[in-house]
Amino acid sequence: MSTSVLIIDDSVTVREQIIKTLESFRLFSRYYQAEDGLEGFKKLLSSQVDIILCDLEMPRIDGFKFLSMLKARPDLQDVPVIILTGMNDRERKIKGLEQGASDYITKPFDHEELVARVKVHLKIKKLQDDLKRSNELLLELSNTDHLTGLFNRRYMMEALEKEVQRSIRKGGNLSLIMLDIDNFKLVNDSFGHLQGDVVLQRVALQLQKELRSYDCAARYGGEEFVAILPDSTLKESVFVADRIRLAVQGTRFSGLLSPLSITASMGVACFSQKDSATVDGFIKQADDALYRAKANGRNRVEFHDPDGIPISNQR
Ligand code: GH3
Ligand code: MG
Ligand code: MG
Ligand code: MG
Repeated sequence: MSTSVLIIDDSVTVREQIIKTLESFRLFSRYYQAEDGLEGFKKLLSSQVDIILCDLEMPRIDGFKFLSMLKARPDLQDVPVIILTGMNDRERKIKGLEQGASDYITKPFDHEELVARVKVHLKIKKLQDDLKRSNELLLELSNTDHLTGLFNRRYMMEALEKEVQRSIRKGGNLSLIMLDIDNFKLVNDSFGHLQGDVVLQRVALQLQKELRSYDCAARYGGEEFVAILPDSTLKESVFVADRIRLAVQGTRFSGLLSPLSITASMGVACFSQKDSATVDGFIKQADDALYRAKANGRNRVEFHDPDGIPISNQR
C-alpha cells in the first residue's frame, strides 16, 4: 500500500530538507508539498494523505488556522499533524497540541528525530485504520445473514422501526412484504439440506433483484424473507410482490437441483398509524396476509385490506 506525506512550509529549503531526509529512509511513496495552509488544505482534500508536517508561521493561512480548518472536518480527524516549530516556541508548541496537532518537531530539526517521530505517528495511524476497518466489518457481519448476504432479522427490525417512525413523522407510504417459500421442507427432503441452502441463496438473489436500492431485503428466518419498501403504496407493493412471485416461479436450477422448480407465497401490508398501530401490528398484518396466501393455495400474493375485516382473525 502506498504511504504519503504532505509537507506544508513557506520555506522551499525546509521542504526540500524534509523530503530528502524522509526519502533516505524510504518511508513514503508519495510526497506532497504546499507553501501555506490553504494550499495544504486543498492538497489534503484532493489526495490521500497519511501524515502531515506543518509549519506554524506562514503567510495567509498559518499553521494554527490550518489546524482549525482540519478540526471542522470529521473525515480528516485521523490524519496526524506534526507541527514544525522554532526552538524556543514553548507557548506555540502547547497551543498547537491543544488545537489538535499530534506532535511537534523543532527547527532546525534533527534528521533522526524527525524520522523517529514520523514513524511513531504512522504506526499509530495504521493501528487506528485497522481498528476502524475491523469495526466496520464487525458491524457489517452483525447486520448480515451469513447464508444469503441479505440483512438479518435483527437489522431488519431496527430498520423497520426507523421507517415506521419516519412514516409517522413525515407521512408517506411504507410497505412490507413477507415471503415464505412453498413446501420448502420437500426441497430439503428431496435434495438435502445443503442444496436447500443453495435454493435459499437463489431466492435471496431474486428478491434483491426485484427491489430498488433503497428497499431493504432481509432473511427473516428459515425460508422466510422480508422486504421493506419505503414510499410505496399498497397497490405498488402488491405489484412488486407479484413480480417477485413470478421471478421465483421462473427460477431454473441446474446440476444437482435439476429439474427443481419452486414457488413462494407472500403477504403485503401498508403501514397506517390508525390501522397498524405498532411495528408488531404491522408485521402481523403482513404475516396474516401471508397465512391467507398459503391457505388459498400457495404461489400467490395476498394483502392486508385496511377497509376489510381480516379473514385471519378467524385463525
Ligand atoms: P409451507 O409451504 O407451508 O411454507 O411449507 P414449508 O415446507 O415451506 O414449511 P415448513 O415450515 O414446514 O418447513 C420449512 C423448512 O425450512 C423446514 C426447515 O428444515 C427448513 N429450513 C429452515 N432454515 C433452513 C436453512 O437455513 N437451510 C435449509 N436448507 N433449510 C432450512
Ligand atoms: Mg514559516
Ligand atoms: Mg416458513
Ligand atoms: Mg415455507
